[in-house]
Amino acid sequence: MITVTPEQDLAAATQYVQSVYESVVKRNPHESEFHQAIKEILDSLVPVFAKHPKYMQHSILERIVEPERVVSFRVPWVDDAGKVQVNRGFRVQFNSAIGPYKGGLRFHPSVNASIIKFLGFEQIFKNSLTGQPIGGGKGGSDFDPKGKSDNEIMRFTQSFMTELFKYIGPDEDVPAGDIGVGGREIGYMFGQYRRIRGGHEAGVLTGKGVIFGGSLTRTEATGYGCVYFVNEMLKFKGLSFEGSTVVVSGSGNVAIYAIEKAHQLGAKVVACSDSGGYVYDANGINLATVKRLKEVERKRIREYVNEHPHAIYIEGFEGIWTIPCDIALPCATQNEINENAARILVANGVKAIGEGANMPSTLEAIEVFHDNHVLFGPAKAANAGGVAVSALEMAQNSMRLNWTFEEVDAKLHSIMKNIYQNAVLAAEEYGYSGNLVVGANIAGFTRVADAMIAQGVV
Ligand code: GLU
Repeated sequence: MITVTPEQDLAAATQYVQSVYESVVKRNPHESEFHQAIKEILDSLVPVFAKHPKYMQHSILERIVEPERVVSFRVPWVDDAGKVQVNRGFRVQFNSAIGPYKGGLRFHPSVNASIIKFLGFEQIFKNSLTGQPIGGGKGGSDFDPKGKSDNEIMRFTQSFMTELFKYIGPDEDVPAGDIGVGGREIGYMFGQYRRIRGGHEAGVLTGKGVIFGGSLTRTEATGYGCVYFVNEMLKFKGLSFEGSTVVVSGSGNVAIYAIEKAHQLGAKVVACSDSGGYVYDANGINLATVKRLKEVERKRIREYVNEHPHAIYIEGFEGIWTIPCDIALPCATQNEINENAARILVANGVKAIGEGANMPSTLEAIEVFHDNHVLFGPAKAANAGGVAVSALEMAQNSMRLNWTFEEVDAKLHSIMKNIYQNAVLAAEEYGYSGNLVVGANIAGFTRVADAMIAQGVV
């Protein structure tokens, strides 16, 4: 009888993963962000395939890396000067094995197929990790909301929804916000959907205004959830937010509520940023000012120092990682922490990283954190609070009732604790104790993969 050793299983799994990765690169050329997201996940799944060859036999990887549907469409609109503008819209419906496609819409000039596919792919595992019945999807446009009037935003979002309408629905695909898409944009899109649909289907979008089906705590959920997650990592090491110095990049929805919760837990957040530069305030960031500048006046973060003259504004957002801190929460955008920034953070004594943004650390940066035993909460786990509360919003819409802020916050808290526990246990089970990247990827993957096997080749 021929016996297969664990080493042979591992070699076969490594070869399988490598061949799928190579075929993804070949079939999706020039999509570097998508390749990066695929590589991070695939590499961490090797021990799963070695232990459970059924996933290879059912060609789960080959299927999971291919979106179920991708739509790309023209979005024409008229600007305030009467000129016709044309943007490109996307929706990637990646995987619906465990629920309707679910994921945000990003409006940013950098948006292209690679960015939306990386985000959609990550969303599959993130959504699975929440334990809620939601599949993975993502969409958006290369439209730049910066400097646009309210009327321009409305005309653009209405045109965008007029096409997106064909592909979404409360049981099919449920978009929400992401960079450049907040309550105002969701409101306009919901209005247009309702008008075309001819009915009030509240569950078609999440992040809605509370008076028309939105959930309390949805606005705060990603930032609060990220801090709840990091708190679990810290507790395990006998550490806490209390008295610690925190740097948060970004000043959008995720950053603002990460700062709020970190302050509530007794930390001092000394910096935040936007795409122009960053603010350092040794007294602790005044959140009321940031909220007003960003949520109400839609101004640049550099304006902060006009009201707080002791604070410093520095052009360019990369330098934010040179500020010494105990905890770093990257809440701005992808690849904002590279290897060099990671080394500086480590040299300055950082103890924990919580990824509030999607894929903010490069693969090399993650390696630096792991090599130096820095607690590392990967995006899929640490920022899952937003989409988790989106799923709770869907549940409330289905039941036609609303939970209180405290009820939703308590559910969010327990979901984040569960995600942490599941990631820790999965990492341990496969021999990667303490590695939450591997743990989160495996825990997210196995639910989806088992559902796919149960549902046959579809
Ligand atoms: N855009 C958020 C994310 O990256 C939220 C998505 C949602 O609520 O559907 O998870």
